[in-house]
Amino acid sequence: MNDSHGRNIHYLRISLTDRCNLRCVYCMPADIKFAPLPHLLQDDELIRLVRIATTVGFDRVRLTGGEPTVHPNLVQIVGDIANIPGIQEIAMTTNALKLEKLAQPLARAGLNRVNISIDSLDAERFHKITRLGKIDEVWHGIAAAERAGLTPIKLNAVIVRGYNEGDMVDLARLTIDRAWDMRFIELMPLGSIADFQIDAVVPVAEMKSRIENIFGKLEPIDWDGHNPARPYRLRGGRGTIGFISSVTEPFCAGCDRMRLSADGRLRLCLLRDDEVDLLAPMRAGASDDELRALMTRGVWNKPWGHGLAQHVIAESRVMSQIGG
Ligand code: SAM
Repeated sequence: MNDSHGRNIHYLRISLTDRCNLRCVYCMPADIKFAPLPHLLQDDELIRLVRIATTVGFDRVRLTGGEPTVHPNLVQIVGDIANIPGIQEIAMTTNALKLEKLAQPLARAGLNRVNISIDSLDAERFHKITRLGKIDEVWHGIAAAERAGLTPIKLNAVIVRGYNEGDMVDLARLTIDRAWDMRFIELMPLGSIADFQIDAVVPVAEMKSRIENIFGKLEPIDWDGHNPARPYRLRGGRGTIGFISSVTEPFCAGCDRMRLSADGRLRLCLLRDDEVDLLAPMRAGASDDELRALMTRGVWNKPWGHGLAQHVIAESRVMSQIGG
């Protein structure tokens, strides 16, 4: 359905859990507290909401988190979503640490493709930015995703001043020989770590020039206006390089998405605190029609865009509690 600004909203990003097996510095505070499990959507509640969402017009979903692969019932959930009439695509954003075992079962259950976070190729810097991660496990996960056909593989790197701006060149180089889409993301400010994020943002203009200084001019590729990453190619490269400039060049006019948090809130804009609680009414006995009406109102009331330029910072949650 269209929101009140005429945008067709049909893409639902679902945070399956607020839990994660990493503690990335740009995503959450080191001492993050997770929500008690009973406060999160149970599997049947989640599937019910996705089924209702399809009747509102949502046809694409992305599973995210936290880390979706730490959810114990992930494969079953993917299978259940794949069986809902009206779902055209199921994708997942993951750190890939558990993909070696999960990629095949997920593909069989109906997962179409994955985006994998990889912020550095250097083992030490990867560990520093994720506070816990081992880069070798990500490589195993990427290989498993390719073997399982979860393609095209998209790789995400959030660029954080003082941590990994020097890693962009090595990450970009991956696209010369491999048909991967490497996406560089501007750091977005959210919640209790917003001050750090504002200080550490690296603008896309600087990201581009760091890459062009080494590889020469990036070649632009046609952009559909909905994909948040504006795509380019290194000359002769098999893959693509994208830049997600949410902070310095927002793309709210092409926004087609909403988010469902692990605690059952429909979040209308990633970078604003406006949310519609679906969990409480559902547990109080709301009918499908009543839940559909809440979702429909949420879509209609989707804000035009974020307010970073006016210094409006969403404070209620950090990224790991929303899903990115
Ligand atoms: N755990 C999964 C992962 O690592 O990809 C999924 C959840 S993570 C919150 C989803 C995406 O959000 C990742 O690509 C991550 O890099 C990105 N992200 C997290 N915090 C961010 C921030 N402050 N600004 C921009 N992107 C962020």
